[in-house]
Amino acid sequence: MSIKIHLPRSIIYLGTAAVTLILIIFLYSANRDNGSRSLQKMQRESYLLGTIIRITLYGEDSKKLNNVLDLSMKEIERLENLLSVNIPSSDVSLVNRASGEYPVKVSEEAGSLLERAIEWSERTGGAFDPTVGKIVKLWGIGTESAAVPDPEQLKEAVDMTDFRKVSVLHEVNGTFVQTAKGQRIDLGGIAKGYITEKVKALLINEGVSSALIDLGGNIAVFGSSPKPGKWKLGLQHPFMPRGEYFGIAEVSDVSVVTSGAYERYFESGGIRYHHIFDTATGYPALSDLASVTIISEDSTDADALSTALFVMGFERGISLLRELKNVEAVLVAKKTEGTIVYVTKGLSKGFLLKDPAMKKAPEVQ
Ligand code: FAD
Ligand code: MG
Repeated sequence: MSIKIHLPRSIIYLGTAAVTLILIIFLYSANRDNGSRSLQKMQRESYLLGTIIRITLYGEDSKKLNNVLDLSMKEIERLENLLSVNIPSSDVSLVNRASGEYPVKVSEEAGSLLERAIEWSERTGGAFDPTVGKIVKLWGIGTESAAVPDPEQLKEAVDMTDFRKVSVLHEVNGTFVQTAKGQRIDLGGIAKGYITEKVKALLINEGVSSALIDLGGNIAVFGSSPKPGKWKLGLQHPFMPRGEYFGIAEVSDVSVVTSGAYERYFESGGIRYHHIFDTATGYPALSDLASVTIISEDSTDADALSTALFVMGFERGISLLRELKNVEAVLVAKKTEGTIVYVTKGLSKGFLLKDPAMKKAPEVQ
């Protein structure tokens, strides 16, 4: 069976962690006059977390903004070193190398993020599960060795995927993680959200009053938009080339996170295999959703939820959304009658559908 990576590796990496999403951000040019003061726009772009990240700050003191951008990049590198499954010295790798043989001492931060991941696993009935690591590794999606795994090995990986078997213990001498034997943790579905929150906290602490943080499509905005009114974010069209959007969300002081199957995948035997897995089968989730965008105050929650809802599909996803407070969503669903866009009630006035071929469904909350 021939296996072909859809895009050259370099391009995959560009899209990759951007995997997800989204956004074309409609920003005005560098400076704008804010009454009597001129606001500077300072932007920094880098390749971290397996993706292109971009932080944009607005303020009056460009030297200070530049220093804050330095600090932000250092913070992202620090957290990547703690949470990446690809860095051998990370806390996640330490846990994975122990492979359940003994409890592993980790930073309080990594332990607490794993606890939040487990909380979302409980709330989503395991649709989101940070012990998905063995499945993720077997498929290798986004790497040059991406391939359909051997069914026996995949079954073993599925058997090891169970968040209930993980304990995080906060002891007087530190935080410890104990997994079941053979389990492998992967925080790829939640860590970009957490890192976004940490960068936001740093920016606020440093006195930045207006910013856009984009960690490969994991977006957060706060403060006033460079354009009058709210921030306007274009949501990536799931069936069109990058940069084509199907709608615009008008938001302020929130995080906007999208999960979809349309960027990080490979093809084998004419079948497309994407990177968000159904933990019950070990195969890419056969979702009736083409993309899930979650808009919420907290980016960690939005990241976990966007991945979870993609796995859960439309009906279960809507049920969960109805239980949640202060969470808005835009779901693009593939239905027999065509592509339907569902927008939660709280966002309906702040969402503009741009693709005439898509039909806006009734409000769902
Ligand atoms: P999301 O929907 O947010 O998450 C999908 C990811 O979650 C999958 O890639 C998988 O890791 C995991 N996942 C899949 N199914 C489930 C499930 N059912 N439950 C829970 N989790 C699931 N990419 C690289 O190519 N190279 C790197 O070196 C690299 N380093 C990274 C380091 C860090 C700290 C982080 C946070 C990400 C890194 N990435 C890297 C990107 C990462 O591999 C994923 O591409 C990215 O996190 C997926 O995010 P997403 O927004 O595309 O999709
Ligand atoms: Mg996610």
